[in-house]
Amino acid sequence: MSSFQSLLKDVKSQIKEIQPADLQGKLNNGGKHPVLVDVREQDEYVQGYIPGAKWIPRGFLELRIEDAVPERDAEVVIYCAGGTRSALAAKSLQELGYSNVASMAGGFGAWKRNGLPWEQPYVMTPAQTQRYSRHIMLPEVGEAGQIKLLKSKVLCLGAGGLGAPSAIYLAAAGVGTLGLVDDDVVDESNLQRQIIHARDRVGMPKVESAAKTIANLNQDVKVVPHKTRLTADNVLEIIAPYDIIIDGADNFPTRYLLNDAALKLGKPVIHASIFRFEGQLTAFVPKVGPCYRCLYPNPPPADMAPSCHEAGVLGVLPGVIGILQANEAVKLLLGLGTSLAGRLLVYDALKTKLRELKLRRDPACPTCGDGVDPASIQLIDYEAFCNVAG
Ligand SMILES: [Zn+2]
Repeated sequence: MSSFQSLLKDVKSQIKEIQPADLQGKLNNGGKHPVLVDVREQDEYVQGYIPGAKWIPRGFLELRIEDAVPERDAEVVIYCAGGTRSALAAKSLQELGYSNVASMAGGFGAWKRNGLPWEQPYVMTPAQTQRYSRHIMLPEVGEAGQIKLLKSKVLCLGAGGLGAPSAIYLAAAGVGTLGLVDDDVVDESNLQRQIIHARDRVGMPKVESAAKTIANLNQDVKVVPHKTRLTADNVLEIIAPYDIIIDGADNFPTRYLLNDAALKLGKPVIHASIFRFEGQLTAFVPKVGPCYRCLYPNPPPADMAPSCHEAGVLGVLPGVIGILQANEAVKLLLGLGTSLAGRLLVYDALKTKLRELKLRRDPACPTCGDGVDPASIQLIDYEAFCNVAG
């Protein structure tokens, strides 16, 4: 027998084939499901793939399969565009000792014709590969990490002292969606520290001014302006779409409201505050560390809260702290390093010293304590508490 058709017939008689619908049933099974391997070429893969599939082009299959699927007895399903290349690939894997391999009959074409779910992969453009090359070079980030950042959504609460530097660095790093919450306009006195704004934007809404700077810096970033203040009525709707919230709020009522709403929705908050020459920073990660109320169960009396009043601050200080917030957010998004959950960093700008305090979750905390159901958390506007913006 010499024709390709007879070779293929021969191969198919020696391998298992699985129908797309049966494969979908196995993938939906919840527990252990087969390892799905897509052996098509890049130009085919970018048109769409089956969610969860590992992509190993046919030419690399034998070279890379042992890294992708170390166990020889694992259930493997291979697919290509029409079911021919995957049949040959299945035969080859059997010869390599894989004992439970199947080829999906009809390939990705049949999968789509059956109306089964597929996704379009995120593929970086050559310009993006160039732009993010210093990230991609880091094995801990790589192209996959950069794509993760591009797909991430971070909300900066405040486009002022802390929000300005963190938003700029997050935008430069390629965090794909940046929400900005601020109802203020740019004032001459902001320019001493809020480097996202500029002289020609005095009087312009801060969210608009920040969006202009970001658009100029990185066109990959979508800015979502929220020209408003957080209230018990709007907070859940505003924060819901985001992965992480950077708290650059300048007042206590907003910090409590954000804390409670973020716990309700299970969102991490990178918290910071600044006062004169000192900055503080920590991460509140639900179920991992304490929350804001573990530290301060209730708002302090209004006259004890310095940030309720106009206070001086060294211009560089919010830059230092805001950038540390951005760094924490990027770490959390990429799952890198040790998070600041459970640690409070205190920065003394005059002594140039960093201190670290351990923070513990309070089992009796009203919002994250033992037995507290996040759904039952009530959101409170402490409107009467303080009505002067910091
Ligand atoms: Zn708590």
